Amino acid sequence: MATAIRIEALPARLGDCLLVECLRPGAVPWRMLVDGGPSDTWPVLEARLARLPEGARQIDVAVVTHVDSDHIGGFLAFVRSDFAHDQVRDFWFNGRQHLEGVRSIEQGEDLGAVLTGTTGGAVLPWNEAYGGQRIATTSDRLVEVSVPDDGPHITVLSPDATRLGTLARTWATVLKKARDGTREIGGPDRPRKLGDLEKLAAQHTPKDDSVPNGSSIGLLVEHRGASVVLAGDGFGDVLADGLGAVAASRGVERLDIDAFKLPHHGSRGNVLARMLAAAPAQHYVFSSNGDTFHHPDDAAVARTVLAAPHGATLWFNYRNARTERWAAADLRKKHGYRVEYPADATAGAVLELPAGQSRMR
Ligand SMILES: [Zn+2]
Repeated sequence: MATAIRIEALPARLGDCLLVECLRPGAVPWRMLVDGGPSDTWPVLEARLARLPEGARQIDVAVVTHVDSDHIGGFLAFVRSDFAHDQVRDFWFNGRQHLEGVRSIEQGEDLGAVLTGTTGGAVLPWNEAYGGQRIATTSDRLVEVSVPDDGPHITVLSPDATRLGTLARTWATVLKKARDGTREIGGPDRPRKLGDLEKLAAQHTPKDDSVPNGSSIGLLVEHRGASVVLAGDGFGDVLADGLGAVAASRGVERLDIDAFKLPHHGSRGNVLARMLAAAPAQHYVFSSNGDTFHHPDDAAVARTVLAAPHGATLWFNYRNARTERWAAADLRKKHGYRVEYPADATAGAVLELPAGQSRMR
């Protein structure tokens, strides 16, 4: 069957760098780049972009989900490249100008400075699909973008006004942290034996309270009957509310989707049972090599396995001791799921979602 959406989770170590293509018969694909990984992902991304077909390399939207070094680091190199200036039609990013209550002019707000031409380059298109305004959910209506010419339909799931407000109050601190980079600590990853998944899933785990993560742009992308949730590092409760609002608008109890790029690299503080129940998927994507934070967390993967419809597939964009445990035949048999790993260390995870499968639109 013809592919409608192609999703590539590039090897971006502990970070996210996703290339999403919505294929259109007889036309160039509508293309979205989501985040740029940490700064050392730029050569990986640059090489991937160079492999796009000559003469059809446009990126329709380049998104920075939130200000954190494992998402924006590589993007800063990207946004300064000739490629970004020549090929990107719109940048989606909530910068200082979109945050009410932030008045002080921060020096060197690198991404915003490049987009507004302050650094000497051309002014680049910024949140144009949203009339130049911020990207966030509202309490009274869904925030949606319908791309013309057989493009996708996109619904904003996160952040909400509360989380953007918190970001506004702490903008300077958040920015400094992102610029300094994630302190890469953490000893070697020695994942434990998995054992009982119900027990793992039920583990009491504190919810993520990181301000930048909570401000993540989360999107539902639907195209020719296929669908994917791209959750950034968003909060499980915020995403569950966003998904619930979409379901309610369609008169259904939950959204049956094709693929779910889980929030925060499969962190147990973000991958909550409530969020998983709001959008059962055929494919779940975990994006991390386990550096520093040892993601994905066992509790998060266990919750995903238990919430997944029978026969669903877990996709890992790295094959390592942590992710390989989930391929154990007894676990897969007992819980009825599949696993996929990249062909090699440079390939990342590549999903192709066929057209016409969605039960939603
Ligand atoms: Zn992250």
